[in-house]
Parts: sequence; C-alpha cells; structure tokens
Amino acid sequence: MKMPKVVKAYCPHCLSHTPHDVERVRKRKASELKQGQRRFRRVTSGYGGFPRPKPEGREKPTKKLALRLRCKTCKKAYPMTGFRTKKFELTE
Ligand SMILES: [Zn+2]
Repeated sequence: MKMPKVVKAYCPHCLSHTPHDVERVRKRKASELKQGQRRFRRVTSGYGGFPRPKPEGREKPTKKLALRLRCKTCKKAYPMTGFRTKKFELTE
C-alpha cells in the first residue's frame, strides 16, 4: 500500500490534531540489559535446549508493519497500530 509521509493525527501531548511524520521502526540489536534478553540468556544457559518448540506450518505471506508517528510541533513520537501488507511505500 501507499501512505503519505505526513498525516494529520491526534497528538496526546498537544491534545489536538497536528501533522505527523510517518516513520518506519527499524529493528535494532536487543540490549543485553533488557528483561526479555536476560530471561532468554538465563533460560538457554546450561543443559536443555531452546525453551520453545520451533513454529510449524507455512510462513505467513505478509509481515506486520511497525510504524511510528512523530508530531511536527512537539517532536514526540507515538507507535501506530501494526497492520499487514505485502508492499509498503511512503509517498509525498
Ligand atoms: Zn504534539
């Protein structure tokens, strides 16, 4: 799908509808100090393998999109509800 780079959305900080920049959230390396990563390290250490079985069945045809809306006036960013698309494009 195509989506404009700037959308008008409600900003909970400004308490009104303002223009927002649409950003794609890029995956970054998991921090070793985060709770999930600490739990993963603890669970996979020592004897016994991976805590969960590998997912079976086919792969999903689409990936879930991670988007973020950044308010142009207060520069605060809010996550947008994820949806699934095959193709994604930001247009002017
Ligand atoms: Zn704002």
